[in-house]
Amino acid sequence: MSAKETIGKGISEKSNFIHQIIEKDLSEGKNQGRVLTRFPPEPNGYLHIGHAKSICLNFGTALKYGGVTNLRFDDTNPQKEEDEYVRSIMEDVRWLGFDWGDRLYYASDHFGKLYEFALKLIREGKAYVDDQDAATISNQKGTPTRPGTESPFRNRSVEENLRLFKAMKDGGFDEGHCVLRAKIDMSSPNMHMRDPILYRIMKTPHHRTGDQWVIYPMYDFAHGQCDFWEGITHSLCTLEFEVHRPLYDWFIDQLKEGDYRPQQIEFARLNLTYTVMSKRKLLELVRDKYVNGWDDPRMPTISGMRRRGYTPASIRNFAERVGVTKVEGISDVTLLEHSVREDLNKTARRVMGVLNPLKVIITNYPDNKTEKLEAINNPEDPDAGTREVPFGRELYIERDDFMENPSGKFFRLAPGREVRLRYAYFITCNEVVRDASGNVTALLCTYDPASRGGNSPDGRKVKATIHWISAPHALEAEVRLYDRLFTVEDLSEEKERDFKEFLNPESLVILPRSYVEPSLKDAAPLSHWQFERVGYFNVDPDSGPGRLVFNRTVALKDSWSKEKK
Ligand code: ATP
Ligand code: MG
Repeated sequence: MSAKETIGKGISEKSNFIHQIIEKDLSEGKNQGRVLTRFPPEPNGYLHIGHAKSICLNFGTALKYGGVTNLRFDDTNPQKEEDEYVRSIMEDVRWLGFDWGDRLYYASDHFGKLYEFALKLIREGKAYVDDQDAATISNQKGTPTRPGTESPFRNRSVEENLRLFKAMKDGGFDEGHCVLRAKIDMSSPNMHMRDPILYRIMKTPHHRTGDQWVIYPMYDFAHGQCDFWEGITHSLCTLEFEVHRPLYDWFIDQLKEGDYRPQQIEFARLNLTYTVMSKRKLLELVRDKYVNGWDDPRMPTISGMRRRGYTPASIRNFAERVGVTKVEGISDVTLLEHSVREDLNKTARRVMGVLNPLKVIITNYPDNKTEKLEAINNPEDPDAGTREVPFGRELYIERDDFMENPSGKFFRLAPGREVRLRYAYFITCNEVVRDASGNVTALLCTYDPASRGGNSPDGRKVKATIHWISAPHALEAEVRLYDRLFTVEDLSEEKERDFKEFLNPESLVILPRSYVEPSLKDAAPLSHWQFERVGYFNVDPDSGPGRLVFNRTVALKDSWSKEKK
């Protein structure tokens, strides 16, 4: 594929340090030339844009090198995991444009093998049952500079450990009574090697295995082995797992027979300005109703972005642009918005929508006459063609496009001033109509019949073109405007205070009575539109027969290209 074909498809054009490692492996014939990656979410929440980066990296890298990618649910903690999350994760990965084919796995598929592996470690004297509680075990861990203390249960016999571990599995003990630990090194400089916990007792039914198990492997005891059993070649994960790598390697050393082992490579996680990126915090926002669900268009979740009108290609392009590095940082949300605009500019049809309507009456236009004027659907896409928009004596324009006492920089409609109505005519404002309290309720204007199509009849110029909608044909719509969910750019710098204190009280503004042109009558849920001069919008799924609801996906003004390029 050429650069033009691949951009936006999730296949990385730019090389990065991970690609360089893979190219070297391929050139050396490692893994018989196979590239198998995996995306391993825990089904304990909806995916966010950080996960999207990981999805694009894993699937995009495999695609680039002729490999494939497994989807694996790391479902080792039944207290936090649910089927709803499994379904939403699959929907989001597919929506982003990636396909795991028949390579769908669950850590829970491997529970039997993990149990057998634990028995093997016990038999080899490399694991033991510890009767101490979690707090005691944690206190004995020591610090990076001070060795830990060995558990009094560390030297139990193999027979006793086997008997106790089987009793754990058979439900013989209450939750918290004991755990299985690896017997590695309580004075290792790497804290993760200080006899980590392998299994704990949990009597919560599991979303897939029901009550078959009452002991569950720790994430650290499951992840690397799942990679190994699935034959993963390159296990890409975020930087915080770098310090876990020696432990994962230790487990694989106890398992492997041949040369093969998955290679873990760490990269910096994505952080984004004005939002939070941890599932725990996002769950809190949902559970305590600070937002309207996981797919609230203000959320940094993939489902929220889909509902807001972001496109898969724009998210993939963003992931490509932020790149892959080893250095923690924070990406600017305006870069994401820039990618959204760039994609919608190519694909979204132009229509007219008036958010804050002001009535205009064309006094020299015949009553009861309607004419159809031709409007271009997308100047960026000649194949999109044209449509007809009705024009008549009564119109709506945007309230902001009129100023009674215009300031020096305001060139749109004002008393005595002429402007162009897009695709229609030149009009001049002659009179202002007010209600009893003095508010402007309508403008009386005249039009120049010779300017049909918005063309100047005699070369005279107007300084502004504004959008409009024929009042009797206008469809009423609710419009939801979104702003940043939080008021501070980098929430990681606000450790002293609860993140919820920084929620933006104006992150959602609802305009209950906006108008859109009649061609939008049957606009499909989630379809994308550009309201000329106003922004990109999509149809919210709350729309239904006789009810139109639009989300503002993003405003037209691109602060990224203006300020950062
Ligand atoms: P969170 O910290 O938001 O709860 P997590 O890391 O616990 O996320 P997982 O379900 O374990 O969530 O993540 C699945 C995969 O996505 C992992 O490989 C993880 O490294 C990756 N991932 C999670 N968050 C990010 C991020 N912000 N940027 C890049 N990759 C991420
Ligand atoms: Mg995790």
